[in-house]
Amino acid sequence: MRGIAIVTGGTRGIGAGISKALHNAGYKVAANYNKGEAAARKFQEETGIETFAWDVADYQSCEKGIAEVCERLGGPVDILINNAGITKDGMFHKMTYEAWQSVININLNSVFNMCRVVIPGMRDRRFGRIINISSINGLKGQIGQVNYSASKAGVIGFTKALAQESAAKNITVNAIAPGYISTDMTDVLSEETKAHITSGIPIGRFGVVDEVAAAVLFLVDDKASFITGTVLNVNGGQYM
Ligand code: NDP
Repeated sequence: MRGIAIVTGGTRGIGAGISKALHNAGYKVAANYNKGEAAARKFQEETGIETFAWDVADYQSCEKGIAEVCERLGGPVDILINNAGITKDGMFHKMTYEAWQSVININLNSVFNMCRVVIPGMRDRRFGRIINISSINGLKGQIGQVNYSASKAGVIGFTKALAQESAAKNITVNAIAPGYISTDMTDVLSEETKAHITSGIPIGRFGVVDEVAAAVLFLVDDKASFITGTVLNVNGGQYM
């Protein structure tokens, strides 16, 4: 079994599903979060998975946080799942500078912050698995989500470029683009909006976190060593 797997935003929603799936498969998991202290405590008690608080939008905090993970769990980071993300929706002509900055910082700059810290070690050890959680809306765009769609499209370009740079060092870098998945993020949608979205999903329902976690398990496995730079859609057929 490999070294440590870090899951950012790993204590709630899709990230919690990923953390649990990796843990159950025998990986040594560190679940990061930012402000959701109570949820993190409950998650750690229920799962036995170690949790670590830092803001992925801040480079120095990532350096410090990753160092703490390595010290507490003992070992290098072999697997990184960049999952933390937020939405701050609104029509572009009304979008504030803050709504733009915070979404780009948390969804895209975080991927730089985390990868920049772990990549040198992965290159030295000649092994790594990086999975970046993008979104269907980074591929197709979405009204009210110029900031979010731009951040998630950026994640895909980042993934493909880093995959090319890292392939010779036996590091794979892939993205997963989930469609609509039932979590706190989508629970804020009205029932009417959910019904409208569901009518456009050929499978006829929102996805569940375990369906994204299954894709992560597949891509981190040694058997997936020839898959890099790809974007795996997990969207019930909503966008092809
Ligand atoms: P949730 O809102 O349920 O959970 C978000 C997680 O990200 C929380 O654990 C949160 O931590 C963490 N987080 C937010 N900001 C930061 C930060 N600055 N530093 C560290 N952690 C942070 O979201 P989902 O589970 O729904 O989404 C997970 C990922 O999947 C996101 O990147 C999202 O964009 C993407 N996605 C989701 C879809 C969906 O339908 N749900 C569809 C497509 C993509 P805390 O508890 O501390 O707030």
